[in-house]
Amino acid sequence: MLLIKNAEVYTPARAGRVDVLMAGGRILRVEPEIRMPAEYCEVFDAAGLVAVPGFVDAHVHILGGGGEGGYATRTPELALSDAIRGGVTTVVGCLGTDGVTRSLAGLLAKARGLDEEGISTFVLTGHYAVPLQTLTGSIERDLLFVDKIIGVGEVAISDHRSTQPTFDEFVRLAAESRRGGILSGKAGIVNIHLGDGRRGLDLLRRVIAETEIPATQFLPTHINRNPGLFEEGIAHAKGGGFVDFTTSSIPAYIADGEVKCSQGLRRMLDAGVAGTQITFTSDGQGSLPTFDEQGRTVGVGVGRVTSLFPEVRDAVLQERVPLDVALRVITANPARILKLRGKGQLAAGHDADLVLLTPGDLEIHSVVARGRWLMKAGAALARGTFE
Ligand code: ZN
Repeated sequence: MLLIKNAEVYTPARAGRVDVLMAGGRILRVEPEIRMPAEYCEVFDAAGLVAVPGFVDAHVHILGGGGEGGYATRTPELALSDAIRGGVTTVVGCLGTDGVTRSLAGLLAKARGLDEEGISTFVLTGHYAVPLQTLTGSIERDLLFVDKIIGVGEVAISDHRSTQPTFDEFVRLAAESRRGGILSGKAGIVNIHLGDGRRGLDLLRRVIAETEIPATQFLPTHINRNPGLFEEGIAHAKGGGFVDFTTSSIPAYIADGEVKCSQGLRRMLDAGVAGTQITFTSDGQGSLPTFDEQGRTVGVGVGRVTSLFPEVRDAVLQERVPLDVALRVITANPARILKLRGKGQLAAGHDADLVLLTPGDLEIHSVVARGRWLMKAGAALARGTFE
C-alpha cells in the first residue's frame, strides 16, 4: 500500500489538499486526512507538491517508425526511461508509414514488454495504408479478439505518403472499426494521420455529412501542423469532433507555420472549442522528416514522449490556461475518448497512476505507475530491460 499525503490534488479537477491511498495497483480512496498504520503502508509526505493523474500518450510509435530517408533512418523503439522521465504511465502504440518491416505482431509484443516493465499499453491496428492490414484478418476480429487493440490507425489522408484512400474505402474502414468497437465495448476509434495536403479534413467532413458514422468515431491527429489545418480543426471540434495536437516538433516545423501546442490550446479555447474535445499526443519515436521543395527527405529527427507534458506546462505558465483544463488534454480526455478504463483520473477504483509536480515551475518530481514508484524525487527507480 502507498499513501500520498498532503499534496495539492488535481483529479484533473481541482480537489484541494487531499490524500491518495493506493493498493494492489489501484486507487482505493482520495479523501482528506487518510490515516494508515505505517507497518502496512508506505506513507509519502507530498506537502508542497501537486498530484495529478499519470499522463496518457495516445499516439506513440513504440516499436519505432520512420525509414522515410532509407533504412538507416528507421527510428528506435521506445525506452521505458523516456516514458518515466515524461511522466507517461499509459501509451497507445501504433504503426505509421512503414507496415512492412514493422508489423502488428511486433507492435503487440513491444506493448506487452512495456507492460511487463511497468507502464500500461494499448495498440491500434493497421498503419498508414488502406485497405488496412490487420492482425487476425479483419478490423472487427482484431478488436474482438485482442484485448490491447482499441481502434485503428494511424490511417493517412491528405498526405503524399498515404495510399490515397477513396471515400468508399475510408467509410468501409470506419464502419468496421465502429462495429468492432460496439461489439467489444471499446472505442473503435479511427486515428487519422493528416498530412500537409490541400484536401485537409475534406474526406472526414464528407463521411460525417454523408453517412451515419458520428464525428466522435475519429481522432484526427497532427491538427497543428499548419495554419490552414488548424483552422479546419477548430471548425471540426466546434461541430462536436475531437482534435489531437502533436507535441514532438523541431524548429523548422514551427518556422514553417506549425502551431505550437501550448499556444494552439489557448487559441482553440478562445475560439469557443470545449476543452473536452482536445487531446495532445507526442508522436513519440516517430520520425520527424524534413523535405525539400522537390519532396526529397533532407533530414530526420525522432519524436519524444518527453515532449508531451512540457506543452501542457507552457499552456499553464505562458498561456494562462488553468491547470485543470490543460491537464485534461493528456489525462481525462484521451482516457474518455479512447475508453481506456481506469485511466486518466485520480479517483477510487482507477489505476494507481500518478505524477507529482513541483509547485510553481511544474517540473516532474515523481512518477507512480500501477502503484509502483518509477521515479521518486527526480531519481529513476526503474529502467527498461536492456537499458
Ligand atoms: Zn502521423
